[in-house]
Formats: sequence, structure tokens, C-alpha cells
Amino acid sequence: MIIQRVVLNSRPGKNGVPVAENFRLEESTIADTIQAGQVRVRTLYLSVDPYMRCRMNEDTGSDYLLPWQLSEVADGGGIGVVEESKHDNLAKGDFVTSFNWPWQTVAILDGSLLQKLVPQLVNGHLSYFLGAAGVTGLTALLGIKEKGHVAVGANQTMVVSGAAGACGSLAGQIGRLEGCSRVVGIAGTDEKCSILVQEMGFDAAINYKKGNVAEQLRELCPGGVDVYFDNVGGDISDTVISQMNQNSHIILCGQISQYNKDVPYPPPLPPDIEKIQKERNITRERFLVLNYKDKQEAGVLQLCQWIQEGKLKKLLGTFCLALTYFIICLEAAFQSMMNGGNIGKQIVSISK
Ligand code: NAP
Repeated sequence: MIIQRVVLNSRPGKNGVPVAENFRLEESTIADTIQAGQVRVRTLYLSVDPYMRCRMNEDTGSDYLLPWQLSEVADGGGIGVVEESKHDNLAKGDFVTSFNWPWQTVAILDGSLLQKLVPQLVNGHLSYFLGAAGVTGLTALLGIKEKGHVAVGANQTMVVSGAAGACGSLAGQIGRLEGCSRVVGIAGTDEKCSILVQEMGFDAAINYKKGNVAEQLRELCPGGVDVYFDNVGGDISDTVISQMNQNSHIILCGQISQYNKDVPYPPPLPPDIEKIQKERNITRERFLVLNYKDKQEAGVLQLCQWIQEGKLKKLLGTFCLALTYFIICLEAAFQSMMNGGNIGKQIVSISK
């Protein structure tokens, strides 16, 4: 059977900005028949995420992420429908997901590595399983629960950077649900800031590309910052940390502003900011959602409950529609997300 797939064509280099030519669209073939334990799936949705930037390097710099190989199909979070099954627990028509879904239109996969999805849990919006009811939602929820020290009635102010992105937009809303009394977002456009306040319940938002972030933050967080959900690192985070209170907490979710640079993870803070962090006893522990496998099932159920109750807003992210055989292309969606083109989760939707 002939299929289309996206392979890594070249590497951007550790300090390079990814370009479209780093990926290549090609035709390939898969077997016409499947073996015992296997399923043939048609891809419906693919996720593009910041961590994929590391997978474009020869060495990802982490022990839990493998680099993509040149001329090999790329992979990541994906959802598809079973078209044929020789696996006992999966049947034709089932919706399934995997964290290592190949970027191809149709694939033969080992059924035991797939997770069956229940669309009713997310009001039928299957793509939510790549966003609010998937790793993205878990990152926001478990990051806050494990590293945020958020407590009901503690009158805490939370600041979220990358606030209009997939994790950030949920983190602000979950911070509020968990008990923060004030939530302020930092994002890259006026449109994003206005959506954060008007649709997602943030108290205020700062466009970091306009005006003086430090001044606006002082004005919007008069009592200082108690919890900082950090998605971006760099100058924005230095500014936030310098306004954090004694014994406050950073949720070190990601450092996207540093991903096109050859620096260790997490990147060290500049000396003056590190001094503030130490003097004020601000925690800044590494957080990795994959380290909390035992809490994921309960976490997804909690997220699905909030989705059903309408407590999490604006969950349909930015969709890139692959009308015909990946023509829109995954690389465009990936680059757009890395450059701030998305609001909420960036999803690639595949149709025949
Ligand atoms: P996302 O926020 O939906 O998309 C990336 C966003 O980052 C863009 O929309 C852009 O928004 C912003 N951005 C890009 N370059 C920037 C820069 N130089 N300075 C400031 N903002 C910049 O992506 P996501 O999937 O939710 O991931 C957010 C962060 O969480 C990433 O750092 C990712 O690595 C991390 N993450 C961590 C875990 C974990 O287990 N720790 C799991 C998942 C994700 P603007 O328009 O606002 O610039």
C-alpha cells in the first residue's frame, strides 16, 4: 500500500533556526497485510511540540528523547482510527493514540503500544487528547500540583509565561481552579493577551513585545509573584523572578526562548538573578511530566471532568488542515508554533 510520510531531511544545527527544508515529504509503502498483534491505522491528528526541536539535533541532550534520524519518518503525539486489527483488544473503528505516532498517512503499528480513546470523555473532541486531556493538560496540572505549592485561601499570585500557548493557557486556568487568587499571563501579541483575559479568565496579560514588562508586572502584581509557571526562560523569566516573593516557587516547565541555542537544560540563570533566587529561597526544580506516570490516569480523568463541566475554556487550539496528503505540511505547523503562530494547542489535522 502506498502512503505519504514526512521524514527529517537535514538538521538545523544546534544553534540554527529550523527551516522548511529540514523536512521532506515522500511516498513510501507499507505491507498489504498485518501480522498477529498489529493494527493498521489511519492518522487523524498529529501534535507538533517544542521538544521536537531537540529531536532535530544529532544529540537531543536528554536521556528520554531520541533524535530523529535523517531520511527516517518523524514521530510524536498522534491520534488515528483503526482500519484493520489483529490485536485482541482493538477493533476496526476504535480511536487510538500514541506518543510515538509516525508522521505518515497510514501506518501498521503494534497494538500493545497504543492507548484506546473514549471520545465521550472529551465531548467528542478527539483532538483534545493531544491537548487539554493529553500530555499538554497533564503538564499544566501536574506541574502546578507537584512544583507550584498552590493552596486554596493562600491568596497567591501566579504568573504564566508562554501564557497563550498549549500548556500556558491551561496552566493559568488550572492555577485558578487550584486556588490562586490572581493570575497574570505573558504572551507575544495583543490578540493573545485579550483572549487570555476575555475568554480564559486571566486577571491581566502583558504583551512582552510591547512596553516595559518589568513595570507592567509591578503594576499588575502589587503583592509580588508567588508562583511562576515558566514556559520560556530568558529575559522574560529573569524579569519575573526578580519580582518573586520570599519562599515562592517556579514551575520549570520549559525554556523555549533557548531551544535554538546550544545551552544545557535547564539553562543557568544570570548571576544577579541566581542571587535573588537563592536569597529569597525561590524553588526552581526541574519538572518533567513523563516522570509522573503513576499520576497520569487520575490526572487525565480530572482534566476530562473539568472539560465536561466547561471549567477549562478555549480548548480548540490552532488547527493546520492537511487537505490532501500532508500538503499543508507538518513543518509549517511546527515552525508556526515555534514562532508564536498558535493560540492554545497546535494540531495538524489529516484528511484523505
Ligand atoms: P506552545 O506554548 O503552545 O507554543 C510555543 C509558544 O512559545 C509560541 O506560541 C510562542 O508564543 C512562545 N515563544 C516562542 N519563542 C519564544 C521566545 N523566544 N520568547 C517567549 N515566548 C516564545 O508550546 P507548548 O507545547 O505549550 O510548550 C510550552 C513549553 O512547555 C515549552 O517550553 C515546552 O518545552 C514545555 N513543555 C514541558 C513539558 C514538561 O514535561 N516539562 C511538557 C510539555 C511542554 P508567543 O506568541 O507568546 O511568543
